[in-house]
Amino acid sequence: ARPSPFLEPGSITAADNLAIILLSRDNLQPITLEESNGAVDGYAEGTMLNTRFGSFPHSTLLNIPWGSQVRASAVDTGSRGRKRRREATDEDTPTTGPDDETSKPAKKAVQAASGFIHILRPTPELWTSSLPHRTQVVYTPDYSYILQRIRAVPGTHLIEAGSGSGSFTHASARAVYNGYPQSDNDVRGKVFSFEFHETRFNKMREEIERHRLNGIVRLAHRDVYNGGFLSEGKSPGASAVFLDLPAPWEALPHLSRQKPKKASKQNGNVENGEWVSPLDPKKSVHICTFSPCIEQVTRTIEEMRELGWTDIEMVEIAHRRFNAIRERVGANLPAEKGNLQTPADVAEAVERLKQINRKTKEFHRAQAALTANGDADTSEMDVDTPPPISDKDKTNGKEPMSEEESKPWMHGRLYHRAEAELKTHTSYLVFATLPREWTDEDEAAASANWPCGK
Ligand code: SAM
Repeated sequence: ARPSPFLEPGSITAADNLAIILLSRDNLQPITLEESNGAVDGYAEGTMLNTRFGSFPHSTLLNIPWGSQVRASAVDTGSRGRKRRREATDEDTPTTGPDDETSKPAKKAVQAASGFIHILRPTPELWTSSLPHRTQVVYTPDYSYILQRIRAVPGTHLIEAGSGSGSFTHASARAVYNGYPQSDNDVRGKVFSFEFHETRFNKMREEIERHRLNGIVRLAHRDVYNGGFLSEGKSPGASAVFLDLPAPWEALPHLSRQKPKKASKQNGNVENGEWVSPLDPKKSVHICTFSPCIEQVTRTIEEMRELGWTDIEMVEIAHRRFNAIRERVGANLPAEKGNLQTPADVAEAVERLKQINRKTKEFHRAQAALTANGDADTSEMDVDTPPPISDKDKTNGKEPMSEEESKPWMHGRLYHRAEAELKTHTSYLVFATLPREWTDEDEAAASANWPCGK
């Protein structure tokens, strides 16, 4: 079987793969590329992607390098195409009378058809920005930090609950991936994801299969507050845990090394009448819980303390994107670059205008004097053209820039601007560590080897 496009996308697009269509900076559309032999859905060109930027037969999107720009097809999809464009997911799609070619909006649709799109390889980040929301999701600024704090690296076994819309699931699958596990006993990286909402669970299952992440992501339909975290009756052997649940403290007793003391929690993690820990006994376990309210944080931390978690810490990610740009003011290009450059401020602009006026007047006075003396033929003269301005005047008396400084990207004053908030579901992140299991045998072995083995 081919690997997931999220993990090993290859260098070119391929049929039956997810691709992310970039319509505009904040408008992404995930599609599955289809190879068609013959007409599909009434289109002779086969499966068609209809957007407000035009129509794109999938055949024009296949077998091209990821990141390619693709121009809309010249194909006339007629009123059927416009109708489909209106129905496309993009809400900005112009609304037109179905067959009214002369109305203004209809014209807009026809013009828009000459546009282009970019086709991008799927990444968890792009999936997060384009996935169908079934719940609140964890966004990139949070999950990138969480994954490094819970030490999700290639080979890690990670527990996640609940799966929700799968935003975190995709990011964690990439983080733990070190090849496809070939069997249940294969120790390669896996994500054990739990969801109790049946419709969401079914949707997630479809998506994980379509994205060819099954094998790496093990999904279970389970209420983890009562059922715990075993996967098909076996311990996931997890060393990393992420809980995005309304009541993480209800799930914590099942993330322990011993059978919970509370009777109400003793039925979880049980297989064949035996209680089984879902954690790796040989590793410390790193956990993150994700909660929007401080009251949830307090209860979670109380429970963590009771259960022996250490290094408990709460963090909030306040993400802001800064856009660094150059403003073209007062650029002082070498004279041979030609044009007058934008003045640095109003005073400089006024000074330059006065200079041009003065020179123009001088020029006309001189021409009038020459004409009066019969020395010049003014019949062809364009009296509106100002006189040539010297190199020194062009740079307003300043030294021209060096060749390096004159590069277009070096022009102007550098400044930065904070961009509108990137989407992030602001929650409190609680991190903690459960030390590895330490038995009498471990102690004896360590003592026998101390200080540096025999
Ligand atoms: N982290 C997810 C993402 O990035 O897309 C979003 C998770 S969403 C906020 C919380 C999910 O937890 C919901 O889908 C909900 O159905 C599920 N959930 C709530 N209680 C649960 C429980 N006891 N067991 C399993 N899942 C539960």
